[in-house]
Amino acid sequence: MRNRRSDRLAYRSDFRIRLARPSIGEEELHAIEEVLKSGVLTNGPATQAFERAFAGYHGTSEAVAFANGTVALTAMYLVAGIGPGDEVIVPSMTFVSSATSLLHVGATPVFAEVEPESFNIDVCHAKQLVTKRTKAILAVHYGGQPADLPALRSLANDADIMLLEDAAEAHGASLGAQMVGGWGAAGMFSFTPTKNITTGEGGMVTINDSEAANELRLLRNHGQTSAYCHERLGYNWRMTEMQAAIGLVQLKKLHSIVERKRENAAWMANRLGGLASVRLPAELPTRRHVYMLYTLMVEKGRDNVMNHFLDKGIEARIYFPPVHKQPLFSDQAPCLPRTEEIASRMLSVPFHARLTANELEEIADTLECAIEKYA
Ligand SMILES: *Cc1c(COP(=O)(O)O)cnc(C)c1O
Repeated sequence: MRNRRSDRLAYRSDFRIRLARPSIGEEELHAIEEVLKSGVLTNGPATQAFERAFAGYHGTSEAVAFANGTVALTAMYLVAGIGPGDEVIVPSMTFVSSATSLLHVGATPVFAEVEPESFNIDVCHAKQLVTKRTKAILAVHYGGQPADLPALRSLANDADIMLLEDAAEAHGASLGAQMVGGWGAAGMFSFTPTKNITTGEGGMVTINDSEAANELRLLRNHGQTSAYCHERLGYNWRMTEMQAAIGLVQLKKLHSIVERKRENAAWMANRLGGLASVRLPAELPTRRHVYMLYTLMVEKGRDNVMNHFLDKGIEARIYFPPVHKQPLFSDQAPCLPRTEEIASRMLSVPFHARLTANELEEIADTLECAIEKYA
């Protein structure tokens, strides 16, 4: 890491107000203790119970738990039959593994622009990227706001390709009456500690197809159909029982975590709505935004505004530097001017559910002060 900003982000852990702070308490401790005492630490009843509860919450018939979101994505791509020679259209404004999990199965990510209001995939641009080799389109629900799923579903139907969801950031989000995770052929979620609910590490694939769910379970567990009978190439991508037990408790808290964040978003909009030169996150009609991220668009002096936050001990970050600009993709990087423009202005500030009223106030004050100084 060469520049000063990255150094600070990489090495500082002394922020007074951190970007993420999991809502973990006594119930989770108790749940882990029960698992440890039971002696069943993997492949057990907690994983099954977490899967059933998660599927129920998101309205899918099945959910399959994984060690983390990135392998859940890889497994989802594999059961979707995506492999060498296939292209999948993904927004560039996402975490890198939406695309690198495609590389892991030998497929090619084709990067699409995002919409300026939601930072979600631009359906018109995605349509232009469809070729004979396109196998699927990936909807990423940026920061917890659903992408335009009805339009993406029509596009997928018209082009005879699959719709998949990277709902890593969007547990409990919905569009109209329907939760994310069940709009397409499959959906994926992550439980890393920055997400609204966490299991430390963890992932889930949601799907409405029990045969495909069984395939996912085979992939997860060495392709093993019975003890030491390996019918196909598999992996060890299992979630531990400790993770699943935490997940079950976290899932019960999801609604209140999201409600709290939505109240805080309303408070921020009220407090800062009049502030010029900065755009607050906007919830689009019919969407239920779960605010995993609170991403501002700062018209001028974004880096100065970010450093102002960091100097005050408030963690702030660019979520995400576009994937197509990563060195990994330098030999095939398309030109995505709108995504690059958005990336030069965006800034995410702390918005976890444990923020106190004083901390929220301080974040708002700090933003006002920084905008006055730099924008
Ligand atoms: C967090 C995240 C992932 C990866 O999940 P891990 O559990 O960290 O592997 C994938 N896609 C998006 C959009 C994410 O935010």
